[in-house]
Amino acid sequence: MTDRKTALVTGSTSGIGLGVAQALAAAGMNVVMNGRRESSEVDSLRASLEGGGGSVVYAQADMTSPGEIEAMMQSAIDAFGAVDVLVNNAGIQHVAPVDEFPVEKWDAVIATNLTSAFHCTRLALPGMKAKGWGRVINIASAHSLVASPFKSAYVSAKHGLLGFTKTVALEVAAQGITCNAICPGYVLTPLVEKQIPATAAARGISEEQVINDVMLAPQSTKKFVTVEEIADLTVFLCSSGGASITGTALPVDGGWTAH
Ligand code: NAD
Repeated sequence: MTDRKTALVTGSTSGIGLGVAQALAAAGMNVVMNGRRESSEVDSLRASLEGGGGSVVYAQADMTSPGEIEAMMQSAIDAFGAVDVLVNNAGIQHVAPVDEFPVEKWDAVIATNLTSAFHCTRLALPGMKAKGWGRVINIASAHSLVASPFKSAYVSAKHGLLGFTKTVALEVAAQGITCNAICPGYVLTPLVEKQIPATAAARGISEEQVINDVMLAPQSTKKFVTVEEIADLTVFLCSSGGASITGTALPVDGGWTAH
């Protein structure tokens, strides 16, 4: 890659974000990783991204802290000149009935899954505008399009993230910048593994019933979506073939939202 791009992927120490970061690095980009992980584990994660020819750095920042997000974005811009590809991926889940939903969990889900995308995007856009090229890719969810019980904060954040995606897309479309929401169905990552016992408790059913009757029931493929499928779509959106795709929700959900 002659004009080497720089990608920043929030929450890229695990699951979908890690797979996306690995794919963008393999495509030759510099990558800024971020996420919650012990510093002893970060070196081996970073090593798993090397080999594509770009630099890989890790930026510790809590996505619920606007100040830490600003410091992370500034360090990326200082190191590489701009963030050309921003993947807003960091996310958490909490499962509980709305009238029992802990207020601090609501605040944390909205801050991590929605407000962090606002902060990262507002700080990345000036560099993208200066270059006349940029990609903002929000890892949203099938829950940006449909709801499920006991996930009020998550569904609200993900619906909000899709509205944010459309608004940003309209604002920057004429400046060579696209903004899209990838909307995965269930992917078997640590986030989902933790949800299985929590959903079993909230619904009073077994963990096996959660997998088959709740998670895979609406996915007509009867399979979990894979991290690689999300990563491949992200790389495509960064290619020239993705130039006119903007403001969209792109479901990768085995047919869930076709019902
Ligand atoms: P995961 O738990 O494996 O990874 C989440 C990542 O976010 C981790 O790197 C974690 O360290 C990071 N993170 C969480 N809180 C953070 C914070 N405050 N500051 C910095 N980093 C933080 O989860 P995943 O399944 O890979 O989820 C990634 C994204 O994909 C989320 O936005 C999630 O909502 C979305 N998604 C997941 C699924 C699924 O089925 N797994 C489906 C649809 C959408």
